[in-house]
Amino acid sequence: MNHAILTIDDIASKNTPAIVDYLNEKGIKAIFFATGQNVQRYYEEAMYAVKNGMIVGNHSYSHPQFSKLTVVEGLEEILNCERVLDKLYKDCGVKRTFKPFRFPYGDKGGNNKDVFQQYLKENGFHKVDDTMLTYPWWKANNLNVDVDTLWTFDFAEYAIRPGSGFTKENVWARMHDMNPRFGAALFGEGNAHIILLHAHDETEEMLPGYYKLFLDHLLENGVVFDEPKFL
Ligand SMILES: [Zn+2]
Repeated sequence: MNHAILTIDDIASKNTPAIVDYLNEKGIKAIFFATGQNVQRYYEEAMYAVKNGMIVGNHSYSHPQFSKLTVVEGLEEILNCERVLDKLYKDCGVKRTFKPFRFPYGDKGGNNKDVFQQYLKENGFHKVDDTMLTYPWWKANNLNVDVDTLWTFDFAEYAIRPGSGFTKENVWARMHDMNPRFGAALFGEGNAHIILLHAHDETEEMLPGYYKLFLDHLLENGVVFDEPKFL
């Protein structure tokens, strides 16, 4: 049996409430990593996620590559998203208990990596409990120590775009790849995961209900989604 924590990136979007409804119907509590600017753009949709039990975490304000930013620029990106999320939770009347963080593209900031990690540690960000991940490479890359949340499996469904040549069949192949270049085999015997999906309206346009299609496939294959916990 495979256990997993589900993370959904780049909210909010028009489609966010429908994704929230689906997850609640399936009893899945996910972490939604939001950019500040997408929350401002789709504020009602972001409120819907908070009010309906999802954990909304910080994914920067404008989704830059942190390795291309100065320390000051990077910290501004984190802080500006914090301001938006604090207001969001307040407007929802929901206490903001957990503050997980994910770098856009999983780019931890290159030469400034340690500064950003220190900042996250000292400013109340919460590390997602990843103690179920026992892969040697997870530890070898310090991912068991870093405060931000990377992932072990990425559907890459955001690549389904007009003319990209990447289709749902490619996602299917990724799901069944028993020897992936990054991460761990989704259905590898006993593997545990932090799974990455996105809430892009562009994907919904290309493949309506894409999140149901992929997540139903996981559920049918016995993947158990655990409630995210924090260290
Ligand atoms: Zn993202």
